[in-house]
Amino acid sequence: MMKSLSPFEMRQLVKPKFPLVMLFYLLGVVRSQVSPGVCRYPLGMSGGQIQDEDISASSQWSESTAARYGRLDFEEGDGAWCPEITVEPDSLKEFLQIDLRSLHFITLVGTQGRHAGGIGNEFAQMYKIKYSRDGSRWISWRNRQGRQVIEGNRNAYDIVLKDLEPPIIARFVRFMPMTDHSMNVCMRVELYGCEWLDGLVSYNAPVGQHMIFQGLHVYLNDSVYDGAVGYSMTEGLGQLTDGMSGLDDFTLSHVYSVWPGYDYVGWNNESFPEGQVEITFEFDRIRNFTTMKVHCNNMFPRNVKMFKQVVCYFRSETDWENPPIAFSPVMDNVDPSARFVTVPLHNHMANAIKCQYYFADTWMMFSEITFQSDTAMYNTTLAPPNTDPPTSTQPGDDPTHKVDDSNTRILIGCLVAIIFILVAIIVIILWRQVWQKMLEKSETFPYNSNSTRSSSSSEQESNSTYERIFPLGPDYQEPSRLIRKLPEFSQVMEEAAGTNSAPKSPQASAQEGVPHYAEADIVNLQGVTGSNTYAVPAVTMDLLSGKDVAVEEFPRKLLTFKEKLGEGQFGEVHLCEVEGMQDFMNEDFSFDTNPNMPVLVAVKMLRADANKNARNDFLKEIKIMSRLKDPNIVHLLGVCVCSDPLCMITEYMENGDLNQFLSRHEPEGLSALLSTTPTVRYSNLHDMATQIASGMKYLSSLNFVHRDLATRNCLVGKNYTIKIADFGMSRNLYSGDYYRIQGRAVLPIRWMSWESILLGKFTTASDVWAFGVTLWETLMLCKEQPYSQLSDEQVIENTGEFFRDQKRQSYLPQPAICPDPIYKLMLSCWRRNAKERPSFQNIYNTLLECQV
Ligand code: ADP
Repeated sequence: MMKSLSPFEMRQLVKPKFPLVMLFYLLGVVRSQVSPGVCRYPLGMSGGQIQDEDISASSQWSESTAARYGRLDFEEGDGAWCPEITVEPDSLKEFLQIDLRSLHFITLVGTQGRHAGGIGNEFAQMYKIKYSRDGSRWISWRNRQGRQVIEGNRNAYDIVLKDLEPPIIARFVRFMPMTDHSMNVCMRVELYGCEWLDGLVSYNAPVGQHMIFQGLHVYLNDSVYDGAVGYSMTEGLGQLTDGMSGLDDFTLSHVYSVWPGYDYVGWNNESFPEGQVEITFEFDRIRNFTTMKVHCNNMFPRNVKMFKQVVCYFRSETDWENPPIAFSPVMDNVDPSARFVTVPLHNHMANAIKCQYYFADTWMMFSEITFQSDTAMYNTTLAPPNTDPPTSTQPGDDPTHKVDDSNTRILIGCLVAIIFILVAIIVIILWRQVWQKMLEKSETFPYNSNSTRSSSSSEQESNSTYERIFPLGPDYQEPSRLIRKLPEFSQVMEEAAGTNSAPKSPQASAQEGVPHYAEADIVNLQGVTGSNTYAVPAVTMDLLSGKDVAVEEFPRKLLTFKEKLGEGQFGEVHLCEVEGMQDFMNEDFSFDTNPNMPVLVAVKMLRADANKNARNDFLKEIKIMSRLKDPNIVHLLGVCVCSDPLCMITEYMENGDLNQFLSRHEPEGLSALLSTTPTVRYSNLHDMATQIASGMKYLSSLNFVHRDLATRNCLVGKNYTIKIADFGMSRNLYSGDYYRIQGRAVLPIRWMSWESILLGKFTTASDVWAFGVTLWETLMLCKEQPYSQLSDEQVIENTGEFFRDQKRQSYLPQPAICPDPIYKLMLSCWRRNAKERPSFQNIYNTLLECQV
């Protein structure tokens, strides 16, 4: 018996097995289903594995009796957890809660009162247990007879252990002290069990039935099922997962002195016209299933047989996969004993399995169903490290006999583990070499002078889902790929990637206001919590965290499709007519149309096949846009996010984007007189640029960095009204995939400042740089791409010249119609030192002053 071993001796016995346990985990060996007799290890209240923050309570008497002092056998603080007020009879307000962080199979609980070296004398005479697998649905534990109350302590110092029969499968457990008279209560507790490696969260099945056998009532229902029970059982676990296999003779269920048939859940063929019983199993995550074991009764003389066939469907996304797998066990008409039937699941990946068990006789009865998946291995022979199984209140759970001590096995285990690790290292090294070779090969591709071609190649090479979803145009390149090709900048990149100890370039250290390269690393690390310098403005973070998206759900049915306006990263943009938009809008926005006429709106829709990232980004863009209110920022009027496809409804800008608009126009002048192309005056262009500056002034006042300012992202309405749109790039900054910006993302390199390209630094000052390019595009009427004579590599090289600052950098030339002061303004936007660039307020003022 276990009592003959001291905890120390126990540890000696169990500890050396750990490498073997590890090895089994590594190799993904499947052992067997959970065994309640063995699965009785303290889960970490007394041992400290459960962290303080995972222990909480409804209330506390004082700081020194907080939940974290509710650890069994601990004397810290004031010696236990004590709720704030006296516990009254029948009051179930107070509880001590433990979060085990993952699902556990809990077989035993231990409680103790507050002793505190003899000062304390508080304890719980009784308690109830509530548990939850997801933290929201709480279930009251009840024993096999349906009783909820568990007898607790009689004094402040003794530990009282109680077997949970049935055991519970839960992540969260609450102890709720109870008393028969008003009294102060304190508790220290422990949970015993093991991790629930099956990962099964619930099974849904038809309710078990009632059999009358030779006048004997046999109840084959699932009496401990903890979900909802109606015509069928939903969202719970019960007898099929309680770890107890039924006896051969289903009428003899006397182990728990309950009723005949207790062990089994059973069904009668006549009640199932399709000749099968369907059970759906839901799991905590996607698993790689190897086998399912079904413990079946096979008392054929009484018309009970194991199933003749099982057909299982797997689901890892939304639909059940086809074809299912089918398995027919060898029927046994000789041996009437109950047995486990092992169904191979052929390494199917799924988080739900639906199995149809076909009747072979009038009755089919199951007592256990277990699942073995890749990582699942129950520790039936070996204890986890540093855990001592408690004094058992149950016969036959002495783990000593299960400890299979063999040094040879340990040695072999360790050797296999080492070989395994070595092979893994070799594979990684080989893989890296092959990868390197592939990279080198790609770098020997012919020099790409055509920017459009090189852009498409970068799209093809990229395997990021993000990029696949959002095919960006030729204005976007993957700078890091290009920078890597240029040896003189590789150092810059390396340093930007965080090799802080690397010597700084002399130019960089000498140059006032030049950021340390490693600052780019800070951008990476800080991600969304970074400082304003790195374009993570507090106000925008509010937008993202705030629940209050300042825009309402719009009734989709009021939108009438008119035509397709364009196609963006997320999907199509449609022109729609909408009635009653005025009533829907708040006062601070008015349409300049006849109130009785239907309003035209632009509806941007998320494409149907968008993945989760795209969906999240779409929602983030909505959040950002919903808070931006300025005459020169496109206004978000409403959203349809309650159902798919997700839509954002914005004001319709009749003339499309500024790039297309200007491309269709000629500057007013003599030559234009001869052509039929529509013309645009310089004053209109100047006015449009001023509006862009005004919109950017607003954004910068919020510390908001647009990151993708360009004519293609400005929309044109009536009378040359301009509104900045497309907050697609800004939203990337807040996504978890920040590295894409640093490493893999395709970026609009011809609009980007040198520090954005080389250091990954995006600020209002880099938006100012992009404004300079946008102003240039505007005054060029978008007839030419910026630096059109340079290839992508040459653009990056030029960026390097900005960085070196040896007067070898080339600037965009002065457009023919651009007055000198405006070109001066443009050049000031491209100053090397970000601090010397004008603010949007300055730009706006200068443009107003220069107005013609
Ligand atoms: P995405 O952000 O997904 O790239 P865009 O906002 O750039 O999508 O929209 C794609 C195209 O649809 C634009 O280039 C423009 O021609 C058209 N478009 C988008 N929004 C509007 C609008 N509000 N009014 C008119 N046309 C629009």
